[in-house]
Amino acid sequence: MFIGSCGYSGSTLLDLILGADTNAVSLGEIYKLAWYSQSPVARCTCGEPIVACRFWSDVLAELRARKQDPALEFSEVYLTVKRAFDSPHRFIPRLLDLLLVLGNRSLLEVGAAISSETRDFRQAARSAYELFECVSTVAEAEYVIDSSKDPTLLKILYLHAPDRCKIIHLVRDGRAVAYSFLKNEARDGRTLPETASDEERFLEGTRWWVSKNRNLEWVLKSIPSKRVFFLRYEDLCRDPDAVVGQLGRFLGTALTLKGGAIEKTAYHNISGNPMRFRRDETSIQLREEWKEKLSPGDLEIFSSVGGALNRRLGYPDSF
Ligand SMILES: [Zn+2]
Repeated sequence: MFIGSCGYSGSTLLDLILGADTNAVSLGEIYKLAWYSQSPVARCTCGEPIVACRFWSDVLAELRARKQDPALEFSEVYLTVKRAFDSPHRFIPRLLDLLLVLGNRSLLEVGAAISSETRDFRQAARSAYELFECVSTVAEAEYVIDSSKDPTLLKILYLHAPDRCKIIHLVRDGRAVAYSFLKNEARDGRTLPETASDEERFLEGTRWWVSKNRNLEWVLKSIPSKRVFFLRYEDLCRDPDAVVGQLGRFLGTALTLKGGAIEKTAYHNISGNPMRFRRDETSIQLREEWKEKLSPGDLEIFSSVGGALNRRLGYPDSF
């Protein structure tokens, strides 16, 4: 199961909620596995570095046995390809992007014959499914959750095995996402100069949310709706038990969420929101700080850039 969404939209929370079921295992933003396995500072959610984590050691042993390659390392698994939608404001220009939007397996084969980038992505999808099979065996779980979010990865994994891939299309009110972007951008300084004003950061966050969500909508256009579950983060937080029940029916299994709470002690997912390390945060709360913090000017900026998309996703202007 692939969670497709923009950042700051609750994918880590959803990943933890689904992974709480004994029949499912959540991997987090697993496309970063190669990087995580080599980083001296990155940690699995269990607290260990990937190379010292018992779960990931078992997965690597399983992979090595299946591929009959005792020297195989995680750095060779799942992803070293560049992401096609790597620039936040770019809008469907390259051959690979076009193939992913049109979304047809035979077109992809044609693309792979003429484009090395498309071949790399096809190989990444094969490698990803091998990894998922090993994870499923080690965790003794039928469902594997990949919350990599990225629309390119979503589509390539779907096209590789349409009958084995289901998608959760997760969205969140764009005003909340742009506000989170502003806060994190101001703290971490990712793309904008230090001198950028909060207003500029908020505008950048709004544009970023619009382009991420539009790209996601484009790649979902050619996927049958029965393979996609549309979920608003706010609905998940307001009634997690009901949403988990609906998701279970979508998957064709009984998923349970005990007492509306999440326990983080036994997870081995990687990357995502740092809340996955905060063991004491076990209840699910809707965070709507933006409603207090955004000024009328911010809301006007948002409305002109992202208002139409937000309304289409089910978020009226008034709150
Ligand atoms: Zn671990």
